[in-house]
Amino acid sequence: MRNEPAPLLSAARIAHRIRSLAREIDRVYASGEIVMLALMKGALPFAADLMRALRTPVRLELARSRSYGAGMVSNGRPDLELPPDEIFAGQHVLVVDDILDSGFTWQAIHARVTLAAPLSLRGCFLLDKPSGRQVPAIPDFRGFEIPDQFVVGYGLDHDERYRDLPWIGTLSESSP
Ligand code: 5GP
Ligand code: MG
Repeated sequence: MRNEPAPLLSAARIAHRIRSLAREIDRVYASGEIVMLALMKGALPFAADLMRALRTPVRLELARSRSYGAGMVSNGRPDLELPPDEIFAGQHVLVVDDILDSGFTWQAIHARVTLAAPLSLRGCFLLDKPSGRQVPAIPDFRGFEIPDQFVVGYGLDHDERYRDLPWIGTLSESSP
C-alpha cells in the first residue's frame, strides 16, 4: 500500500495548461523545428503530452538526470547522461523537465548543452517551485508555479513510486 497524496493539480487542469503552454511555445519558434530534450524519468508524461500539443515539429531526444536518491532533497550535483553533441549543434534545443526546484539540474544541463553549440537553448518546466531555488534559474516556459511542497504524480516520483498517477499531489515528509 502507498499513501494517498493530497490533490494539487487534476489531470484536466494539467491537460488544459499544456494546450495553452504549447501555443506559447509555438509562437516563439514560429514553426521552425526543435530538438526536445526530455529528462528521464520524471518528464516523460509531460514531454509526451506537450509534443503532441505543439504545432512546431519536434525531434525527440532523451537525457537522464539523477539528483535524488530515496530522499526529498537535491544533492546539488546531478549525474547527466546526454546524447552526443552533434544532436544539438546548430539546432533550437528545448529542454523539458517535470519541475524546476533548486535549479541545479537546469544549470548543469544548460552548461553542458551550451558546449554543443546549439542555435538556441531554452527550458520548459511543467512545475516551478521558486522557493526551492539555490542557484539563479529562470524558466523560459512553465506550466504552474507551486508552493514549497514535495509533489508526486504525472511522472514525479518518491522513491520510484507515484509516477503513474495521472494527476499531481503533495506528499508529506512523514508519508511512508
Ligand atoms: P532541481 O535540480 O531544480 O532541484 O530539481 C530538478 C529535479 O528534482 C526534478 O527533475 C525532479 O526530479 C526533482 N524534484 C524537485 N522537486 C521535486 C518534488 O517536489 N517532487 C519530486 N518528485 N521531484 C522533485
Ligand atoms: Mg527528475
